[in-house]
Amino acid sequence: MGPDALSHMSRWGHKKVMLCHDPDSGLRAVIAIHSTALGPATGGTRMWPYESGDQAVFDALRLARGMTYKYAAAGVNLGGGKGVIIGDPKTDKTEVQLRAYGRFVDSLRGEYITGEDVGTTLEDMETIYAETDHVVTLPEHCGGAGDISPATALGAVMATRACAERIWGTPSLEGRRVALQGLGTVGSKALALLLAEGAEVVVTDLDKQKVDWARDTHGVAAVAPAEIYRQDVDIFAPYALGGVINDATIPQLRCRIVAGSANNILGEERHGDELERRGLVYAVDYVANSGGTIFDTDRLRKGGFQRERAMANVRRIFERIHEIFDIAAARKLPLYRAADLLAEQRIAGLRSLPLLDAPRPRT
Ligand code: NAD
Repeated sequence: MGPDALSHMSRWGHKKVMLCHDPDSGLRAVIAIHSTALGPATGGTRMWPYESGDQAVFDALRLARGMTYKYAAAGVNLGGGKGVIIGDPKTDKTEVQLRAYGRFVDSLRGEYITGEDVGTTLEDMETIYAETDHVVTLPEHCGGAGDISPATALGAVMATRACAERIWGTPSLEGRRVALQGLGTVGSKALALLLAEGAEVVVTDLDKQKVDWARDTHGVAAVAPAEIYRQDVDIFAPYALGGVINDATIPQLRCRIVAGSANNILGEERHGDELERRGLVYAVDYVANSGGTIFDTDRLRKGGFQRERAMANVRRIFERIHEIFDIAAARKLPLYRAADLLAEQRIAGLRSLPLLDAPRPRT
C-alpha cells in the first residue's frame, strides 16, 4: 500500500485498512474501516476479480465510506466498513479461503462486522460465521434475518409514499400510475405492495418470464424495457440497475416522482440537479433502499433479532425521506446532498456540519 492510499484515508477520514494474505489458501483480501462513530464498522464483503491490489484497496475505501453514510442516514447505529476479496466468485471461491477470511475478520475483534455483497452469498456468510461471530447477514437457521428483500421493497414503497405526500399532500398511492422497472427479488415484492396501495402499475423487465409472471399473477400491463421511461405516469420506480437517470432518459420522463430500490440511480450527481430543475422529486436511493439493511442489522441490537421492531424501523424510512425534504428546503440543497447532510449531522451528534467537499462514494 503506497502513500496514496494513506493520503486518501486522511482526506476522507478513514480509520484503518487491513491487507489480508493467507499463503495456504491463496486468499487476498482488503478490509477497510471508515468510521466507528455510531457503532462497529459494518458492510458486506464483495468478491471481485480486481486487476491489482491497489484497485481493491481503493474500492474497499470508497465502499466503506459509502456505508458510513448509508447507516447514518438510515438511522442505524453502525459505522461504515467494507471487505473485498480479490478473485472471481464463479471460479475462485473456496471454503478454505472464506474461512481464512473469517479469521481475519475475527482478528479485528468486532471493530468490523461483515455481510453479503456482490459476489458473496448467505451460504458464504455461514462459512465465514464458522470462524467469527462478527457476521450480520445470515440465514434464519443461524439466527439471522434471512431474506431481506421484502424489507427492502417495503422501505422503497414507504419512500414513494413520502414523495407522494410531498407533491400531492397525501401519501396515498390510490389511483397513482407507476412505471416499474425490474421484476426481480425486490421489484416483484414492490409490485404487490404498490397494487395493494391502489396504484395502477405498468411493468417491464428484460426477462420475459418475469413479465409473464406479473401479467398472469397481477393482471398488470407491460411494455418493452426501452419504453418504460416515457410512460405517462405519476411515478417512475427503478428496481433494476443503477445509472438509469441520465442524459438519455431524463427528457423522456413524464412523471413527478422517481422512487425505487435500485442502487446508484443517478448516472451522475448533476442528473439529480436536473431532476430538481424539472420539478421532479427523487427519493434518494441509499435511503429509499435501506429497508433490507435496517432489517438485517436489527440482530445487532439489544435482545437480538425482533421482526416487528425491525419492520417498524423500516417503515420509518417515510419520516427519513421527509427529513431530507426539510433539510433540502432549509439549506437550499438538492435532495441527494441533503441526504448526505442528514448522515453527517447524525454522525456529528445532530450538530450542523459543513458539507463535505466531494460527493459521497457509490455503494
Ligand atoms: P434482481 O437481480 O433480483 O432483479 C433485477 C431485475 O431487473 C431482474 O429481473 C433483471 O432482469 C431486471 N433488469 C435488469 N436490467 C433491466 C433493464 N434495463 N430493464 C428492465 N429490467 C431490467 O435484483 P434485486 O435484488 O431485486 O435488486 C434490485 C435493485 O435494488 C438493484 O439495484 C439492487 O442493487 C438494489 N437493492 C437491492 C436490495 C435487496 O434487498 N435485494 C437492497 C438494496 C438495494
